[in-house]
Amino acid sequence: MKSVLIGSGLAMVMFLWLNGINITPVFIAVALIFAVLYLMPGQGQMKLTNGGSSRDKSSNLNFDQIGGQDVAINELQEALQFVMQPEKIDHMGIRPLKGILLAGPPGTGKTLMARAAANFTSSAFMAASGSEFIEMYAGVGAKRIRQIFSSARKEAKRMNKKSAIIFIDELEVLAAKRGSNSSHMEYDQTLNQLLVEMDGLSQNKDPRILLIGATNRADLLDPAVLRPGRFDRQVQVDLPDRAGRAKILFIHTQNKPLDPDVDLDDISRATFGFSGAHLESLANEAAILAMREESPIIKQNHFREAIDKVMMGEKLDRQPSVSEMERISIHESGHALVCELLEYGSVASLTIVPRGKALGFMRRSPQDDQYLYTYKELEQQIMTMLAGALAEELRFGSRSSGARNDFQQAWNVAREMISSGLSSLGVVSDDSIPTDIIYKEGKRIIDSAENKVQAILDENKERLFELATCLSLQESIGRPSLEKILYQ
Ligand code: ATP
Repeated sequence: MKSVLIGSGLAMVMFLWLNGINITPVFIAVALIFAVLYLMPGQGQMKLTNGGSSRDKSSNLNFDQIGGQDVAINELQEALQFVMQPEKIDHMGIRPLKGILLAGPPGTGKTLMARAAANFTSSAFMAASGSEFIEMYAGVGAKRIRQIFSSARKEAKRMNKKSAIIFIDELEVLAAKRGSNSSHMEYDQTLNQLLVEMDGLSQNKDPRILLIGATNRADLLDPAVLRPGRFDRQVQVDLPDRAGRAKILFIHTQNKPLDPDVDLDDISRATFGFSGAHLESLANEAAILAMREESPIIKQNHFREAIDKVMMGEKLDRQPSVSEMERISIHESGHALVCELLEYGSVASLTIVPRGKALGFMRRSPQDDQYLYTYKELEQQIMTMLAGALAEELRFGSRSSGARNDFQQAWNVAREMISSGLSSLGVVSDDSIPTDIIYKEGKRIIDSAENKVQAILDENKERLFELATCLSLQESIGRPSLEKILYQ
């Protein structure tokens, strides 16, 4: 059919040309039609990732390759039984599950879990991101929703599978509370179409379709999406704990030559708050550092440096002036001295080599994961943060703008103390407490911490200055040198 049309078109053009008729407008019209049809696929078509093809390595992904998410994986596997045992479900008259929502911070493995779920249930897999459904043209998003459901059905049939999993990342973009977007008609139409398709899943069971949505902001989702019969199950995918981090590091170092002395458990202790994606990047950076040094194996110190790089960014060539270096040295020494005197062994290293946005920084020793803090512990955190600026003042008689971030963090901790009912205000309601009262109480906490830091620094002036001198000469100081300078 296509070739007949092309042939007739060409014959018509030849005919017009031989009869001396100007055919330029015809060419322009054909070029425009071609551009609209082929060069702008966004007009109604979307790029779908088919995770189920046999050429795709990730289709072999299984739950063992996901670390630190045992609870979430158990919950997900339990929900997946609905897809795997349809006869039992029908027999018991149970309403089939249509959607599972994976909620949690970025980089914790939600996409991995959806892919592993497809493999686990032997389903075809289609992936798309919420933002791919949203276009400025009305009706395009709804069309794309219909398209992904029909593609999933076709793909399952083509692969001879009984079920298909559709994974939609960034679900909050597509399924935010209705009326919350400025061009809300298009957003609302898209979301309505998703709800219509989900409602239709119970009638059309061949193949069975399960939707897995992922979001970092479950609070933004429209309540209609979460109601029973839609995304019935919510699985929380949180940041991994210490054992989870060690498992993820293990997974991502399997293909890397490690020094037998590398202690992944120690690295996992030093990476509280890292997501799976951070840990993958950490293992990768450690390997790059080893390669740069032409070391055939990756050593513990490569991992240590990679932690700094993942947290703070790449080392910079920028060289501060001599006077700035002296100021940065005393500033970092102030942080380190106070932190160490408040808790012996708490400082791992300090450096004045600029990295990312930081001109220098102090690294704390690996600690056990901690989720609760007492007043004293929070106050000590504030004291360590303030110590940089106070050390500068003690040495040079003035502070600098380098302490801005420290002060911001100190205020955040003070605010946390007030909200948690730990301050002298007692139990407060965040919503109704006047800002001037918060300010006064925050200031009182900071001033009291400042006085304590001042006393520590005055009493240990010699040690502080010696540490700063060594730091400006050596640029970086590790734990053994720190012990010598402070305690011998
Ligand atoms: P986002 O919310 O930003 O889409 P996500 O939660 O979907 O993130 P993934 O895309 O699954 O995160 O993870 C990104 C990468 O991080 C993975 O390809 C993998 O290398 C690594 N990763 C994340 N979490 C884990 C984990 N739990 N176990 C092993 N690797 C992980």
